[in-house]
Amino acid sequence: MRRVVLKLSGEALASSASDETIDASVVDFLATEIAYSVEAGGLELAVVVGGGNIWRGATGAMAGMNRANSDLMGMLGTVINALALQDAIENHGRPTRVMSAIGMDQVAEPYIRRRAVRHLEKGRVVIFAAGMGNPYFTTDTPAAQRAAEIEAEVVLKGTHGGVDGVYSEDPRKNPHATKYEELSFDEVLAKDLRVMDLTAITFCKDNKLPLRVFDLMAPGNLRRALAGEAVGTLVK
Ligand code: UDP
Repeated sequence: MRRVVLKLSGEALASSASDETIDASVVDFLATEIAYSVEAGGLELAVVVGGGNIWRGATGAMAGMNRANSDLMGMLGTVINALALQDAIENHGRPTRVMSAIGMDQVAEPYIRRRAVRHLEKGRVVIFAAGMGNPYFTTDTPAAQRAAEIEAEVVLKGTHGGVDGVYSEDPRKNPHATKYEELSFDEVLAKDLRVMDLTAITFCKDNKLPLRVFDLMAPGNLRRALAGEAVGTLVK
């Protein structure tokens, strides 16, 4: 069994085609790919979902809010996204469990590592909500931290900006930018490549946790990434 953590940004759940913070058709697309991949076998999947489509802590802090309060709002946003994802994946016949880092018994199970692993072993898709429960982080760091904790072999970071992997420069601005098939964490840090939050990158480096960055929305990409294929860029 391959155990992986998939990081989905909250913004990936929104789209320009919908005025809503969550576009049901996008969530359904992601759920279809996830359910298919787990059904195909050989995969234990935990998803860490962000909340940027609803709220980012930094936005409130810039407007003068207390940072910790603002981050709590962001974490609650991730719970909303987790429930949307749960519903959509279960519509495709795959059992799921939402585990929250902030206690909310009526909404989600509390995060308990051993229980999360048991769910995975039983073929349930585990959705980690509320990040790590601590302010001053984005969901990139909990994606890496949870992956280490549950002994996942890789963090798959799906992006939604139409860029498939890590490039020397932003390929949307410079058409001559080159794509890296593979690079080291040291190169990411030295070249200041914005792959993931710095805290998450250093965590992955310290814990020797590989990271694959790929375009979530390109047809077939998520399925291939979940199947362990070399899409996007591997950082290790
Ligand atoms: N957040 C937090 N601690 C965590 C995870 C998330 O405080 O462990 C808050 C933070 O304010 C963040 C927001 O939740 O901005 C939403 O997460 P994120 O920005 O990672 O969403 P994404 O960019 O993935 O959509």
